[in-house]
Amino acid sequence: MLEEGRSEEELFSFLSLKKGEDSSYHHVLSSMCTIPHPVAARAHQMFLEANLGDPGLFRGTAEIEALLIERIGDLLHHRRAGGYATSGGTESNLQALRIFRKMKASSRPNIVVPESAHFSFEKACDILSLGMRTVPCDDSFRMDADALQEAIDADTCAVVAIAGTTEYGVVDPIAAIADIAHDTGVPLHVDAAFGGFVIPFLKQEIPFDFSLEGVSSIAIDPHKMGMSTIPCGSLLVREPSWFDLLNVETPYLTVKQECTLAGTRSGGAVVGAFAVLEYLGKSGLAAIVRGCMKNTKRLITGMETLGYRRAVTPDLNVATFHADHVPPGWRVSWTRRGHMRTVMMPHVHLSVIEEFLRDIGDNNAQ
Ligand code: PLP
Repeated sequence: MLEEGRSEEELFSFLSLKKGEDSSYHHVLSSMCTIPHPVAARAHQMFLEANLGDPGLFRGTAEIEALLIERIGDLLHHRRAGGYATSGGTESNLQALRIFRKMKASSRPNIVVPESAHFSFEKACDILSLGMRTVPCDDSFRMDADALQEAIDADTCAVVAIAGTTEYGVVDPIAAIADIAHDTGVPLHVDAAFGGFVIPFLKQEIPFDFSLEGVSSIAIDPHKMGMSTIPCGSLLVREPSWFDLLNVETPYLTVKQECTLAGTRSGGAVVGAFAVLEYLGKSGLAAIVRGCMKNTKRLITGMETLGYRRAVTPDLNVATFHADHVPPGWRVSWTRRGHMRTVMMPHVHLSVIEEFLRDIGDNNAQ
């Protein structure tokens, strides 16, 4: 800590310098976050001091959180789902498993996940002392539903399916998985942290939400394809009363009990998320998804013309390739299987993709 504070001017010139060292998102094809929508930024700014950890003091913000959950519930075909705004997919996945662990009378509970599951499940299993059983994926990197049945046993407290995998942007066969979950009486948690704001707007209908009887809970993140400010995820569950299992007494707050993981929670990000959904509506979100999918197709065609084969045909705006180098100045990432991975977020405009194709093509020619 400095003995005497710095001048504002000097401080902000230091901060500008550091911001200059960050990536501007312009040549970033690896991120599942994006530049927040201006409406989200404006709304966030307006509610900067609002703490949802003490909702009695911020009644308006708490009402907006309830509205946000209602809007998302409506999108996911269950208007009366229980839910709250989390800090992101990791917290949503952890909290869902915490509920299902508490429901299960077992001294050695386990969960069953596809091998493509996000690493947040590894953290959740560690924190909750859950065994993690992994089901292999098929050639299209989707969970092999036939292998699922064998992995479930009497100690299984939840099955997880992914609606939009982080690495390949594919959706597991959730209808088949939901049937198995329903028949075996095991809750199914759907991780739609990335795909939740994409799948409802695709031309092709892919069942993944509460319209499937076997689906018990869904993680869906506004701070990814919902274009809100960070941090804002959300967890929705079929029965609102399930959250009671997580309640602890909160003697010194304006509410008596709390089921959330964090105490202090950003009201600004939650209002930002609500504002974007309200501003864009379904038609606005659909237009954004259409653009991202068009750009994904363009990148795949362009890359294949240059001789880089796709690893898989994605359901969502993630494209992966058999490629071993990236042109200088670009950020892509690599999957566990060694494929080049790109995500066509809203900041990845068509002009950016054409520029990337030119650069990787030139690189190829050298
Ligand atoms: N689940 C999926 C499918 C993801 O893609 C991610 C992050 O990319 C997460 C969960 C974790 O989300 P967060 O980083 O917001 O905690």
